[in-house]
Amino acid sequence: MTFHVNHRLVCAAVAGWALLSAAALPAVAQSGEKAEPRPSVASSSPASPAVAASAHPVATEVRVAGDDKKTRFILELDRKIDLRAFPLANPNRIVIDIPQVTFQLPAGVGEASRGLVKAFRYGLVMPGGSRIVMDLKRPAKIDKAYVLAAENGQAPKLIVELSATDRATFMQAVSAENRKSLAAEPATVATATVPTKAEANVGPEPDGKAETEDTRPVVVIDPGHGGIDHGTQAQSGENEKTIVLDFAKALRDRIEKGGKYRVVMTRDDDTFVPLAQRVKIARNHKAALFVSIHADALPRGEGDAQGATVYTLSDTASDAEAAKLAEAENKADLIAGINLTEEPVEVADILIDLTRRETKAFSNRFARSLVREMKGIARLHKNPLKSAGFVVLKAPDVPSVLLELGYVSNKADLQLLVSESWRSRTVGSVAQAVELFFGKRVVSAEPPKEASEQP
Ligand code: ZN
Repeated sequence: MTFHVNHRLVCAAVAGWALLSAAALPAVAQSGEKAEPRPSVASSSPASPAVAASAHPVATEVRVAGDDKKTRFILELDRKIDLRAFPLANPNRIVIDIPQVTFQLPAGVGEASRGLVKAFRYGLVMPGGSRIVMDLKRPAKIDKAYVLAAENGQAPKLIVELSATDRATFMQAVSAENRKSLAAEPATVATATVPTKAEANVGPEPDGKAETEDTRPVVVIDPGHGGIDHGTQAQSGENEKTIVLDFAKALRDRIEKGGKYRVVMTRDDDTFVPLAQRVKIARNHKAALFVSIHADALPRGEGDAQGATVYTLSDTASDAEAAKLAEAENKADLIAGINLTEEPVEVADILIDLTRRETKAFSNRFARSLVREMKGIARLHKNPLKSAGFVVLKAPDVPSVLLELGYVSNKADLQLLVSESWRSRTVGSVAQAVELFFGKRVVSAEPPKEASEQP
């Protein structure tokens, strides 16, 4: 068995974020406002989205024009902003980093292909920083990226001009950009006064003493996706990122009410968090349990699955659907334009293998108990217990499960997913499973018997 050390991935992600924050800082400072990092601990005071929204530039219109040779991306804003545009490979994308912008664009915009742009998406990647990611139909180079000031009664416009290029030229531009990013990194860290969400959120390093006073077991709740990454989407427009955040907050409140466990959220607002970062938050808080919350979808024409499924980590997926789902969920970082050029290092370590076996046994035990508790309360998938290679479940020392609440592509499931009474009932059953999990852990001083069990 091998253990994937993700810290180089994390470094790559953090470096990207640090750069992003540097790009975002001047404009943020101009507006006389600081992007305060919000602590992830649940008891902190909630942010006020209404106040935040009005303080940021507003994007009101977007269009893509041109053909397969030259394409123009135009975003209309209510004021001038800074931008940084760069290419990313595998898959080929153009990323535009800007200060936090409130996007008031029609739903579904960005889904249609035009010219060199296959699709684009936009959203928050950290407090103070938004991002636009364009998927390219073929390699393209950035001819110009600029913001036009308001003129002749016309709104300020962010414009990115692209032209078709060959693969070799595109890859050259990508590696030049990587070199630039690495060179800029130390300066960024030295001058940045506002920690990025990534830095603020991960909690203490494993040896840190900050949290020693609260000895309650830590439960990390991980609402999937967020910000620029919407997750799956119902035909009627509901986003997975919102459904799972609502559920996660309700679960947090329920567990905290008992007072026995400390809850840490990987995100408690509409921000993107890279996958490796989510794992790091769990490990740094020495979490006793990690629960990732998602809501699945099947593409149109691929049947009509329904009900909740509980996933654990495995090298080989339990079935084809599980494999496909893990692949889709593991794409979150690509969707958000995180640059993951470094391959994870594989370390063979007998102690980590032992820890992983124990962790796996605990994960499986919690998964089974979760299915038992949810049975009869929430609708379950016909095979509710599955496993696959989810990146977010890879902490070697934190029992982790991923709960797919249901299918937003299924009408009956969706009705439940957005219903207050279903949420309350289901949250209750998950909280009960958490209670049972810790109850057993506390009374059993023996190593778990399931340690040698197959999943
Ligand atoms: Zn998901």
